[in-house]
Amino acid sequence: MKKGLLALLLAAGTFIGCQDNTTDLPNEQQSKIDMSDFYVHTDHVESKGPAKGKSTKECYTMRVLNRQLKENKGLYQKMYDIEYATRKFIAGKKPDGAGGGKPGNGGGGNDGGGDTGGDNLGVINIPVYVHVVYSNSNQNISDAQIASQISVLNNDFRRTNNDANNTPNEFSGVAADTEISFTLANTFRYSNSTTSWGTNNAVKSAYPPVTPSTHLNIWVANIGGGILGYAQFPGGNSATDGIVVSPQYFGTTGYVAAPFDGGRTTTHEVGHYLNLRHIWGDGRCNRDDFVSDTPSSDRPNYGCPTTAYHCRSNDQFMNYMDYTDDSCMNMFSNGQKDRMRAIFAAGGARASIAGN
Ligand SMILES: [Zn+2]
Repeated sequence: MKKGLLALLLAAGTFIGCQDNTTDLPNEQQSKIDMSDFYVHTDHVESKGPAKGKSTKECYTMRVLNRQLKENKGLYQKMYDIEYATRKFIAGKKPDGAGGGKPGNGGGGNDGGGDTGGDNLGVINIPVYVHVVYSNSNQNISDAQIASQISVLNNDFRRTNNDANNTPNEFSGVAADTEISFTLANTFRYSNSTTSWGTNNAVKSAYPPVTPSTHLNIWVANIGGGILGYAQFPGGNSATDGIVVSPQYFGTTGYVAAPFDGGRTTTHEVGHYLNLRHIWGDGRCNRDDFVSDTPSSDRPNYGCPTTAYHCRSNDQFMNYMDYTDDSCMNMFSNGQKDRMRAIFAAGGARASIAGN
């Protein structure tokens, strides 16, 4: 997005600082982190499918966030602080901003998204607790279905799936192995007569997260209303930390429903859990997802497009943080990788998962 330009400005921050009256400030470090584009409140984008009668992807994470911001007065500041720490970590890690390329401008085909600058965090493994909450036998999904989802998470985040071959040349240069992996730590099963849990965290209240400071908690429970899932961003209440996914959109085998039977709903929600925004920034062209190598857009994409041009550039609609069908998603970007990994650094919002 415009963040490519912003990154350049950040890199040149010292020189720009010389032009204004902040030159004499001893702490010019402070002025290097530009937070002017930060936002958390968003307008809801109504779900519009590619064709009538087809299921459409709908994630409730931003709507849930809007509600939590109203309920929790301190949340905005917490998320601001996390964003500031994220930007500071990224700015400090890569002085030259290498690896970003310029999407939409023939940036593909360089180093294949390998080294994006060492952050000394190594491969980060996230232990996962799965809470299966069911009102019928279909929803009491099998261990094999759960295993299939863990496998998708690992292949998506490590870029080891076959779909990685489908990333267009334009974006293959910025597609990332995030060096984040997942291990199933335990599965909990609960029978409950509730048939639809909604998006108000009721299922988490009924079955609280287990050690959320060190484990990703996933509730597999029927949300209802055609909603696939929702997540909580870093900084939220630990009593509701984790993600919720409806059983038919979890994993690739067993009780699953096309076209969201590729396990990518969970990949997407874990992206939010690790501080990623939607690829279009949940707003118009000037709203950003705070990632420089995901081109600007003003809307989600649905179905399985071959091309999508908005805000004067091609959308990265195959990114896991868009709304396209599972089979059409195949990448996180280097910039998204940086954002996710920043929260595991010492002092970061999820540092305790990585033992920091
Ligand atoms: Zn989402």
